[in-house]
Amino acid sequence: MVSAVFKTVGCTAAAAGSIPASSDINMHSVQEKHNSAYSHLPQIGKLLETPQLKKWFPLITRPFTSKIASQTISDIRLSKNAKNTSEREIIKEIEKRCAEASRRRIIKVVNATGIILHTNMGRSPIPTDVWNKAAAINTGYSNLELNLSTGKRGLRNGLIPELLSILTGAEASLVVNNNAAAVFLILSTIAKGKEVIVSRGEQVQIGGGFRIPEILKLSGSKLVEIGTTNITTLSDYKNALTENTALILLVHRSNFRIRGFTKRPSVSDIASIVPKGIVIAVDQGSGNITENIPGEIKAEHYLKNGAELVCFSGDKLFGGPQAGIITGKKDLIQKLSKNQLMRVFRPGKTIFSLLEEILIRKMNGELNGHAENILNLSIAELKQRGKKLIRGLNRRYVDLIDSLISTGGGSAPDELFPSVSVEIKTPDKPDRTLKKLRELDIPIIGTISNDRVLLNLATILPQELPIVRSAIKELLKEYVE
Ligand SMILES: *Cc1c(COP(=O)(O)O)cnc(C)c1O
Repeated sequence: MVSAVFKTVGCTAAAAGSIPASSDINMHSVQEKHNSAYSHLPQIGKLLETPQLKKWFPLITRPFTSKIASQTISDIRLSKNAKNTSEREIIKEIEKRCAEASRRRIIKVVNATGIILHTNMGRSPIPTDVWNKAAAINTGYSNLELNLSTGKRGLRNGLIPELLSILTGAEASLVVNNNAAAVFLILSTIAKGKEVIVSRGEQVQIGGGFRIPEILKLSGSKLVEIGTTNITTLSDYKNALTENTALILLVHRSNFRIRGFTKRPSVSDIASIVPKGIVIAVDQGSGNITENIPGEIKAEHYLKNGAELVCFSGDKLFGGPQAGIITGKKDLIQKLSKNQLMRVFRPGKTIFSLLEEILIRKMNGELNGHAENILNLSIAELKQRGKKLIRGLNRRYVDLIDSLISTGGGSAPDELFPSVSVEIKTPDKPDRTLKKLRELDIPIIGTISNDRVLLNLATILPQELPIVRSAIKELLKEYVE
């Protein structure tokens, strides 16, 4: 019985894999009748037997390789050069396209940009020990929604809300998929059909198209803009209050700072003039809770000073997986958790187990956020890593120079911290060198600063230093000797 099932599955998979190939062969033979110019073009089935194409199966699958091969052959058929294209050239072109496809897979890269929480590179890495602990839970069954004392259905939360509340000084907490969902849930639950007051200086766009005014519109609440870009006063808030006001939303200016003639009232000032029943919520964004990051205000500070809800990302300064965390007043959190949208926004089991483990370690003083760890590295330590990395390499082409890092990830937008970088000084154009580094099996992502190629040592993880050293060695081979 079992083997019969296996057989069927195996057959189906093989058939599915060859659909593009066989249909293409048919098309091929139809065309052949009309035009013998294409008769020399190889059959897909035969091509897929060659070691050059077979080697892509484990990387991008046989069906995808087959699809690429069909597409390549049909492109060649349409080209003027079809007649003169040899099988070798066709295979080479297919291989090139397979290589391009395989580079679109999600793979490990080395972040040598000096931007610690880079949204393009997955923001905060998850600590290895935390990952392993979560792996043990997630590769089998867990009590995700099972209450072990009653044997009945439980809440999908573990200790997370309680731990988060202790950590942020809140009455209650809630986790959703990301901070964008957190903001949306707050707006939709508390201010649907009502007015939300937001300062013009805080109507931000976060990278990737998260725009406060648009999210507000989507949630069905009405934006009441107050103040100007640089100045918003307490009386601006006071004058905007109507009987329809449901929420005052303060937004962390994640990726910019307004300098010079600028003013905005503190949360406690706003809280002092807002009548009961109107909620003050802060989109704190960066997730600064226990961390000491210059220019960043902790979630706890807002809650202590009159904010009733604070939300932030799990994968920024907090140093966890992608998540949106909301903390605040118990009745409001309860209201949020009862919204049907919670069913849409609830994270999966992997996220919960990672968050729980991170919270436990953080609260036991065993773990900082990734960004804080990197900011705590001394210049002496970075120099030592750099010296080891370039030891024995030709100093004409590599050097160590002072440079800067930033936290990124919508935090401390105006703060730069000292760091050390490896400068690569080959005769190549800087962007050519960056491209070469990106094309490595483990791509290294560097930056160009004043026409210099820099690999920032602060964001290169210690275990990646040998990888970077061999990559530089390889890169210099062309010039040395
Ligand atoms: C980063 C950020 C967001 C978006 O958070 P995601 O977790 O990426 O959805 C929203 N608001 C602020 C202020 C942010 O900094």
